Amino acid sequence: MRSAMNRGAPSSFRTVLAGGVIAGPGEARGGPCELVIRAGRIAAVRRPGRAAPVATVLDWRDRVVLPGLVNLHVHLEYTHLAHAIAGGTTFSAWVREIVAHKAASTEQVLVQARRRGAGWCLRTGTTTVLDIVSRTAGLPLEMERGPRLIEARELMDLPRGCDAQQQLDAARDWLARGSEGAGGRPRRAPWRGRALAPHSPYACSNLLLSGSARLAAESGAPWTLHLAESEEEWTAFERRQGGLWELGRAIRPEWGEGWCGRSPTAYVAGWLPPGGIVVHANYLAPGDPDLLAAKAATVVHCPLSHAFFGHAPFPYAALLRAGVRVVLATDSLATLPAGVEATRGYDLAAHAARFQRAHPGVAPADVLAMMTVAPAQALGRAGELGIVGEGTRADLFALPRRALGPRPEAWVAEWLEAGGEIGALATMVGGAVEWEAAE
Ligand SMILES: [Zn+2]
Repeated sequence: MRSAMNRGAPSSFRTVLAGGVIAGPGEARGGPCELVIRAGRIAAVRRPGRAAPVATVLDWRDRVVLPGLVNLHVHLEYTHLAHAIAGGTTFSAWVREIVAHKAASTEQVLVQARRRGAGWCLRTGTTTVLDIVSRTAGLPLEMERGPRLIEARELMDLPRGCDAQQQLDAARDWLARGSEGAGGRPRRAPWRGRALAPHSPYACSNLLLSGSARLAAESGAPWTLHLAESEEEWTAFERRQGGLWELGRAIRPEWGEGWCGRSPTAYVAGWLPPGGIVVHANYLAPGDPDLLAAKAATVVHCPLSHAFFGHAPFPYAALLRAGVRVVLATDSLATLPAGVEATRGYDLAAHAARFQRAHPGVAPADVLAMMTVAPAQALGRAGELGIVGEGTRADLFALPRRALGPRPEAWVAEWLEAGGEIGALATMVGGAVEWEAAE
């Protein structure tokens, strides 16, 4: 059955026969299972019965099905920059290097990088990606197949010649054109979205931060911000010192006038829109987790990027105590530690393994939730993405049954422990097999 007929556009009605299902965190079932898919959504998950045969049957009885993973922070534009910058560098030195690399890359190279990166996401079971785009925002990727892509338009006005109001106006227009593809034609991809990504408190003026938050609230678009990533960011806001502070001041002498004496999170908390997606949050003052919780923010932790820079331990326990939702994401390949293959850079299982080593007390089901139901909630798509059940989108991937042990309740732990070594065999988005491993 693993033939060309399994591929193609979403069938209006098809059945997957699976050898087991991990429907969600803490919900694994062994034995034969039938998933009925109608119009891109799962209509039923049941034991194979004697129901009338349907047009298309995918024989996945040698596979275990999992919900497609949701990755809330990538820069696919940097897919060609894996290992281009050495780890262990200071954050401001890394920023200088990435800016130079980006300036040296044509738009064509960046679009090509995004296309290749999106394919790599699919191959590791990721079906929804929030991708930060800068110069290629809105450019068509012309992908035959791919994950659901949410393009998050990067906004910043630290660089000379960048004006906050101009960026906000352009972003408003761009959001309004969100449902169109190239030349105004409807997009082929299963589902696309647009989001706003003011870069960070150090690269955005107050006007751009507050204006983008208002625009997100008006339009319903997700809003995401890099926050408190590095010690240099902390030092810049607390003491107006350090490499990042000097970098900003060298570009604009008036930059950061209002920063003194507060953590980056305290500085920005008043502008956070409710439900904002905050990336990193590595360096927090004691009251910062409560500030994030008060805005129902989601914190996105990127374990391998964190290791690349050698940051202080991620304050997971403090965020959890405050009631902040924490999810796992991969970040870009420009912060991939040496020794990790580029093609594994978007493999959430590899990142989750790193997280588990640093936080061994977290249950495997909770780690799975950080890549499925929790990021789906952050996108306002709970019950639609990140779970396999009646009425959910038919976004899923399959692992080889033989690589997992006899006890379904141990499958998630086994998969996580393998750190990506148990690779996906196929990935489905909206009921269509978007990727399948070669025989
Ligand atoms: Zn980032």
